[in-house]
Amino acid sequence: MAETRHTSVLIIGSGPAGYTAGVYASRAMLSPILVQGIEPGGQLTTTTEVENWPGLTEVQGPDLMIQMEAHAKAMGCEIIGDIIMSLDTTARPFTAIGDSGTIYTADAVILATGARAKWLGLPSEDAYKGFGVSACATCDGFFYRGQEIVVIGGGNTAVEEALFLTNFASKVTLIHRRDELRAEKILIDRLMKNPKIEPLWFHQLDEVVGEDNPKGVTAVRVKHVKTGEITEIPCKGVFVAIGHAPANELVKDVLELHNGGYVTVKPGSTETSIPGIFAAGDLTDHKYRQAVTSAGMGCMAALDAERFIAENAV
Ligand SMILES: Cc1cc2nc3c(=O)[nH]c(=O)nc-3n(C[C@H](O)[C@H](O)[C@H](O)COP(=O)(O)OP(=O)(O)OC[C@H]3O[C@@H](n4cnc5c(N)ncnc54)[C@H](O)[C@@H]3O)c2cc1C
Repeated sequence: MAETRHTSVLIIGSGPAGYTAGVYASRAMLSPILVQGIEPGGQLTTTTEVENWPGLTEVQGPDLMIQMEAHAKAMGCEIIGDIIMSLDTTARPFTAIGDSGTIYTADAVILATGARAKWLGLPSEDAYKGFGVSACATCDGFFYRGQEIVVIGGGNTAVEEALFLTNFASKVTLIHRRDELRAEKILIDRLMKNPKIEPLWFHQLDEVVGEDNPKGVTAVRVKHVKTGEITEIPCKGVFVAIGHAPANELVKDVLELHNGGYVTVKPGSTETSIPGIFAAGDLTDHKYRQAVTSAGMGCMAALDAERFIAENAV
């Protein structure tokens, strides 16, 4: 028979938002349960150096997430290796069902399921992820000071990333399949006026070229979409900027969403459109998408949940 577990606060997701919510909810004596999902530790487990987590000049992403998990556990958060397959938000306590068959009931739920960068799906792109291939200019731009880099994409994300990367790179080549950009006009104007950026129209990424010792990118091969002609462009960094997809599967039909699927929260809080359901981290945030901002929202969500539980005690 399926086991049923009740908790005051169910935290769904084990990235910086989830673990920080775990620390705060535990210290508020709420005995939270945190369900880790398919990627324990979240997106930072897929990267190498992190240089913008305050207090640590440099830390490996997976190590940082092990420390966060240990911190949440030490404060009393129960951490469970399971995946939430469904969430019933129509009645309180809320009911979530895990892939293990366990039924979780909770007075409040903190959604911290994050987001995924979209990738092109090329084997060479995968091989050099974290070694020259990135989907986050804010995170990794600093590593390419004085280097030539390429940005793939033609929407707002790509234009913003290309502009931001000119703070570091000696040259940014923007590679796009068409000959016009799908971005805000003001951004396109800025891009076109920037002497460091060179758009390459009608091309798509065919292969990332690199070496293994030390592992890193040396060039990209790009293909002309009409003629099929291949050109090699020397570069040290490849930024794939074709958008992000928030992991909203559990709530996309019941919660208010914005910007193509991010969960909407009330300004200055983590309250969603359903009282008692809170959201934190990249799942709600199409703009900043950082570990530290996610952790900040995880803190807010635990404090919001604590207040909600106190005000709605039966
Ligand atoms: C390659 C890379 C490098 C990066 N480098 C940096 C950096 O240097 N600095 C920085 O600040 N940021 C960096 N980021 C961004 C940072 O990782 C994210 O902003 C941050 O991880 C978001 O945290 P989060 O807690 O919202 O969600 P995520 O880290 O996305 O975690 C989501 C969690 O939800 C879980 N989950 C999803 N669905 C379910 C479900 N149904 N049931 C249970 N659990 C579920 C997943 O298993 C995962 O644990 C990087 C991102 C990437 C991809």
